Amino acid sequence: ETQSPYFYLTNKEAKARFRPRPRFAHKGSFGHLLLAAGARGKMGAALLAATAAARGGAGLLSCHIPRCGELVLQTALPEAMLATDACEDFLTELPADMDRYDVVAIGPGIGTSDPVAELLERYLQHSPGPMVLDADALNILAQHPYWLLRLPPGSILTPHPKEFDRLFGTHTSDFDRIRTALDQAAALKSAVLLKGHHTFVALPDGTGAFNSTGNPGMARGGSGDVLTGLLGALLAQGYSAADAALLGVYLHGAAGDSAAAAASAEAMLPSDLILHLGNAFRRLY
Ligand code: AMP
Ligand code: MG
Repeated sequence: ETQSPYFYLTNKEAKARFRPRPRFAHKGSFGHLLLAAGARGKMGAALLAATAAARGGAGLLSCHIPRCGELVLQTALPEAMLATDACEDFLTELPADMDRYDVVAIGPGIGTSDPVAELLERYLQHSPGPMVLDADALNILAQHPYWLLRLPPGSILTPHPKEFDRLFGTHTSDFDRIRTALDQAAALKSAVLLKGHHTFVALPDGTGAFNSTGNPGMARGGSGDVLTGLLGALLAQGYSAADAALLGVYLHGAAGDSAAAAASAEAMLPSDLILHLGNAFRRLY
């Protein structure tokens, strides 16, 4: 029998990796996630990622956001603590005491200006644990590819095809992208996603999975931000990059399918994904 390096990410595969919350757990059991997200006009991305992180089961959540987002974050998500930047409009400085965090998720809505790029470099130097890199964090890295050498092992990169090609060079087919994703996952000892319909999850061990959940109702701005928060929460809970990436991608799509069943693929919103995360988790019990 020939061994395929690919598998299909089904309910059975997700269930096999899921660990229910132990009865005697406390908030310290589930990690502290630092989410760095948002800029003026993009605080929605930060709020979506933050709410998904909270619903994704992180024990503690702190959000590094620019000052302009303080009121909306504290009002819309009282569960989150804030590490507010000194700058009103975008992120500029590393939060104090980085050691108190277990995982850093960075990218949604941060922009790609020079001060934000410099901050990303500092995050890569000082992250206390694995990272989730998404959106503008990936677009900044595309301008500074050698910064990837600083990526902590056990991290997760979440590009869609355009971000993927900016980061890893132009590809002519998804077949090509899948090969690059597997090479990069092995080289970075991290999980590399190729997002879309049937998101591909490349794992550090050279295997990869095609997701079975999700639908075109998720093809709208904000869906990816929800995934970033969820992946950060799963890493904070102690899942390996491989298990967090597989579980997160599966749950995100399953939440999308539940949201579409309730609201239709046309009218569902990325924030509905977050409300339906509970239904997705229950599919793993
Ligand atoms: P982003 O492009 O960063 O907003 O991410 C979009 C998210 O929605 C990714 O997780 C995609 O896998 C998911 N998504 C977008 N379009 C579809 C689709 N047609 N089918 C399933 N999932 C999708
Ligand atoms: Mg995105």
